[in-house]
Amino acid sequence: MKDFDLFLNGLKNIFLDKQIKQKEPMSKHTSLQIGGDADYMVLPYSIDEIKRVVLLCKSHNMPFYIMGNGSNLLVSDLGYPGLIVKLSGGFSNVEVSEDGIVRAQAGVLMSKLSNVIARYELTGFEFGAGIPGTLGGAVTMNAGAYGGEIKQVLLSATIIDREGEVQTFNNEALQLGYRSSILQKQDLCLLEATMRFNKGDKQEILDRIHELNSLRQEKQPLDMHSAGSTFKRPEGYFAGKLICDSGLKGFQIGGAAVSEKHCGFLVNKENATAKDFMTLIKEVIRIVDEKYGVILEPEVKFLGTFDTDYRKAGI
Ligand SMILES: Cc1cc2nc3c(=O)[nH]c(=O)nc-3n(C[C@H](O)[C@H](O)[C@H](O)COP(=O)(O)OP(=O)(O)OC[C@H]3O[C@@H](n4cnc5c(N)ncnc54)[C@H](O)[C@@H]3O)c2cc1C
Repeated sequence: MKDFDLFLNGLKNIFLDKQIKQKEPMSKHTSLQIGGDADYMVLPYSIDEIKRVVLLCKSHNMPFYIMGNGSNLLVSDLGYPGLIVKLSGGFSNVEVSEDGIVRAQAGVLMSKLSNVIARYELTGFEFGAGIPGTLGGAVTMNAGAYGGEIKQVLLSATIIDREGEVQTFNNEALQLGYRSSILQKQDLCLLEATMRFNKGDKQEILDRIHELNSLRQEKQPLDMHSAGSTFKRPEGYFAGKLICDSGLKGFQIGGAAVSEKHCGFLVNKENATAKDFMTLIKEVIRIVDEKYGVILEPEVKFLGTFDTDYRKAGI
C-alpha cells in the first residue's frame, strides 16, 4: 500500500467520511475566494480527533496547517501539499459561568460568540462581533477592533503543539502583541480559550454591537471578497491613508485591486489569482516605500508556494 493510502486509512480511523475531504479547493474556504487545492482537509469535532490527527501527521511526516474561517488567508494557486485541519463551526462549544467566565472552543465564530456573551449580559466582547473569523484565528492573531483586542479579555488558552502535547498558557505566556502571539511564533494550535467579562446592560451591549457593525458597513468594502486590512498598521501611520495618498485607490493588477472604499483593503475584484493578489501586495509595498519611506508589513497570512521573490519586498 502506498504511503498516501496508508495516510488516508489513518484519517478514516479517526474521522467519519463526511469530515474528510480530498483535493479540496481552498477558494471555497477563504474569504478572498482564492487558492488551489489542498491535498487533504479534515473538519474535527473534538480535542481527541485533533490530537490523533496531529500524531498521525507526525508519524507520516505529512505537513499540516491549522485554519479557522479563512478570513485572513491568501492561499497559493498551487494549493497546499498536505493536510488542512479546519477548526471552524464543528468545534465550537461555549460554556458561560455565573461569575462571567466564558470557555469556548477554537472553532466558534466571533459573531456567534459575541452574541452568546451579550445574551448573558456580559460586556467586553462587543469589538469582536464584526470580525469574520473564529476564536482560534482571533487568539492567534490577537485580533482587535475599535479599541478592543483579545488580549484584554483572555485569561488562558489550551493549545496542542506539533508533538501532540496539550498545555495551558496564561495570558502573559501567550505573548499577545499587535496582531501577534506565541501561537504564530511557535506554530501552536489553539484548542480552547477562557475569558473573563463583567456584567453589563444587555441593551447597551447590543446597541454597541449594532453601532460597530454599522461603522464597518459604512467604511469597509464588505460587499467584496477580501481578507480585511491587508497590512498591519505601521507605527505612526495608517496603512490605508498611506496607500490612498500614494494614488493607489482602485489600482488593479489582474483581478486584484485596492478597494475604492477603503485603501487598506485589497480585494478580489474579478476572479483574481493568488499571483495577482501577491503581485498587487508587492507593488503597493514598493510604491508606498518609494513615496513615504514606510515599508508596509502584510497582516494577511500566506499559505503554500508563491513563485515570487516577495520576501525581498519586505514581506
Ligand atoms: C471583512 C473583514 C474584516 C476584518 N476585520 C478585522 C478586524 O476588525 N480586526 C482584526 O483583527 N481582523 C480583522 N479581519 C481579519 C480576520 O478576520 C482576523 O484575522 C481573524 O482573527 C482570522 O480568523 P480566522 O478564523 O478566519 O483565521 P484564518 O484566516 O483561518 O487563519 C489566520 C491565521 O490564524 C491561524 N489559526 C486559525 N485558527 C487557529 C487555531 N485554532 N490555532 C492556531 N492557529 C490558528 C492560521 O494558521 C493563520 O495563521 C477582517 C477580515 C475580513 C475579511
